[in-house]
Amino acid sequence: MPLDLDAYCAANQPRFLAELVELLRIPSISADPAYAADVRRNAGHVAGAARAAGFSVVEIVETEGHPAVYAEAITDPALPTVLVYGHHDVQPVDPLDEWVSPPFEPQVRDGRLYARGAVDDKGQVFMHLKAVEAHMRTRGRLPVNLRLLVEGEEEIGSVHFEQLVETMGERLSADVAVISDTGIFARDVPSLTVGLRGLAGVEVEVRGPSLDLHSGVFGGAVQNPVDALARMLASLRDPVTGRVTVAGFYDDVVEPTEAERAAYRSLPFDESAFRKVAGGIGATVGEEGWSVLERRWVRPTLEINGIWGGYQGPGAKTIIPAHAGAKISCRLVPNQRPDVIGRLVAEALRAATPPGVTCEVEVRHGGNPVITPADHPAVRAASRAMGSVFGREPVIIREGGSIPPVEVFQRVLGIQSVLVGVGLPDDCIHAPNEKFDLDHYAMGIRILARLWDEVAAEMGDQRRVPSADK
Ligand SMILES: [Zn+2]
Repeated sequence: MPLDLDAYCAANQPRFLAELVELLRIPSISADPAYAADVRRNAGHVAGAARAAGFSVVEIVETEGHPAVYAEAITDPALPTVLVYGHHDVQPVDPLDEWVSPPFEPQVRDGRLYARGAVDDKGQVFMHLKAVEAHMRTRGRLPVNLRLLVEGEEEIGSVHFEQLVETMGERLSADVAVISDTGIFARDVPSLTVGLRGLAGVEVEVRGPSLDLHSGVFGGAVQNPVDALARMLASLRDPVTGRVTVAGFYDDVVEPTEAERAAYRSLPFDESAFRKVAGGIGATVGEEGWSVLERRWVRPTLEINGIWGGYQGPGAKTIIPAHAGAKISCRLVPNQRPDVIGRLVAEALRAATPPGVTCEVEVRHGGNPVITPADHPAVRAASRAMGSVFGREPVIIREGGSIPPVEVFQRVLGIQSVLVGVGLPDDCIHAPNEKFDLDHYAMGIRILARLWDEVAAEMGDQRRVPSADK
């Protein structure tokens, strides 16, 4: 066990907290142009902290929007190289009057640090900086090569991130990416996220008569676009099994292993608490044969996000509307592809179009699902680092949403990611009273400090072995 690192972290934790507090005072709200100068000042502050931690190269990297910070500590080209991603911008703070203490005046209460950005993601970026510092001060070097990329636009959808990654190209080359911008399953259930779902979408427009018609004069003889659309949409899913009926929809789906399913079953999932979080719904639904967690993590979905058509004003208007439309999105799992799924859904809608109306479908830009195999050496390394600090092996899980940088690293750089975050479900990210438990901040630093030793041990020999699939 790395006693030297732990001892250094323990001795310096009060300062680690004080330094994070200084960063949290900067209102780096990327969504509001009024704070653009603060986001820039914040990038400068992160760059200074990276320099202080011992990174040898530190730069502010301009984008067409808010700047990012890049830093590197290359120990030896023969060692494995890790790309660490985080973001330095934060969400807006309204409703301001619901904050117990002002969002940019960090306050510690009951062992928790309250401030906007405390855990998402300034606190978790700082865990990385302090873990590097621990190595530099105790041993003078890292056991791996590290590249750090801290983006300034994550909270506005990473709008220039792909461009940034393409521009930086080779400078971001690495054997694996580590991202600390997520949480664990529950306070006493550490977890490691290795998969995220992708996204595909279409917009459909059904057109009938060239104008709204009188339902008395024409009703009964003319196809109604709203009625036609409703039936077309209903045809996309089997009401009994919950399965999507689009031909070919499941063809590329890779099913989770029995070990994965067993791991999910071991999680303390509270259905009634979930229903409460889900807006107080009375029952969960979904694909037959799969649990609620599996439906959200490892199974693809088809959702209608919006629907319109016909008269919606006060009173009645007896018409056959001229057109109707809907927006549909699918969450994808490996190895589904957004362009393929978009095309299949479009074909299914066209095939289901009844006579008397026409259907136009536009396939929208999507994103690939990503998965890092549970037996990837970096997953094993992270699992050990996390397990040794939490005193309990993390459960390997997936998440239902998407994290664009993870998909970009995979698609543009061919790098797989491991999500090593230590946030908690009740951290109130994006909401008033965001907080970071101080013990999790300290544990996170120790986990990441150990992680570099574990990565060096796991990936030290095998990385330069040429592989046929590169
Ligand atoms: Zn975040």
